[in-house]
Amino acid sequence: MKVKVAEEWLNACSGCEIALVDLGERLLSVLELVEFVHIPVLMDHKYYGQLGDGKRLEIPEAKVGILTGGIRNEEHLEVAEEMRRKCEIIIALGTCATHGGIPALANSYAIEDVVDRYYSTESTDRADFVPSEGVPPLLETCSAVDEKIKVDVYLPGCPPHPDQAFAALSALLSGKLPDLPDKSVCDRCPTVREGKGQIKQLRRFLQAPQYKSPEEPLDKMRCLLEQGFLCMGSVTKAGCGGDKEVPRCIASRVPCRGCYGPVSHDGNQLLLMLNGLASNGVDLRSLPEYTSLLRFSGAHRLLRPARKEV
Ligand code: SF4
Ligand code: SF4
Ligand code: SF4
Repeated sequence: MKVKVAEEWLNACSGCEIALVDLGERLLSVLELVEFVHIPVLMDHKYYGQLGDGKRLEIPEAKVGILTGGIRNEEHLEVAEEMRRKCEIIIALGTCATHGGIPALANSYAIEDVVDRYYSTESTDRADFVPSEGVPPLLETCSAVDEKIKVDVYLPGCPPHPDQAFAALSALLSGKLPDLPDKSVCDRCPTVREGKGQIKQLRRFLQAPQYKSPEEPLDKMRCLLEQGFLCMGSVTKAGCGGDKEVPRCIASRVPCRGCYGPVSHDGNQLLLMLNGLASNGVDLRSLPEYTSLLRFSGAHRLLRPARKEV
């Protein structure tokens, strides 16, 4: 019998759904084993019955429930709670679901300021444009899914690598919990490291890293952090390289920006990165700003509005 799977996108950009489609031919073998009972990106299945005559939001029962995106408004919350009621196993897929992702950067501001910034222009007043009917009310913060409901499996990544999504789904379909890496991006990085105390100053990202030619193997290129680029590999969970293992950005000779979130689920990428830099002798006052070190993991109350002077 096929395993019933439900999928929902909350505060998501749909990149995580594209990652599932990027399974390519492997998707066909997954589809032989699963029956999608609800997946808005592919199926027209209405929350309130196909004729809209239902009394409450309903999602069919399923063995596995996949949620992408964090929780930003009351509808996201209602959908997440219904998924929890109807699914035996909930997977948070993608860093928006596991740690808030990019949208949680807005947690640095009070919700009124976010709305003001979004709807005001120099010549308009926000009150004329803020929609008040027919849209779900915003919540105070953008949350990771596990701040509102229990999550069983975390698959971070922005987006998650299809190889990892496939391995996790295959494990779940055969009744096992997926075996996910507890290593950092640095642990999977082949670049040359000389050790502590090598970073003299941080450079702007616009400068190009040094390597001899595009053909130079990565294991001959100097570590990008030691070259002075703010590479977040040491505080970021491994897995983005999929079966090839070499981290995606490093393979393109670009520093890691931290999109897989912290190595341990409740780690704080900002604090760990600042600690790492300080212990290498970097003057932290030379960093233009700190909050972007949480650009993918600002949920769980890590990013909060600065207190206003009274
Ligand atoms: S984790 Fe990335 S790809 Fe997935 S929904 Fe969020 S922004 Fe999009
Ligand atoms: S800091 Fe970046 S370049 Fe250096 S080893 Fe870690 S991931 Fe590789
Ligand atoms: S190297 Fe870092 S930013 Fe790039 S894909 Fe991997 S985890 Fe994400």
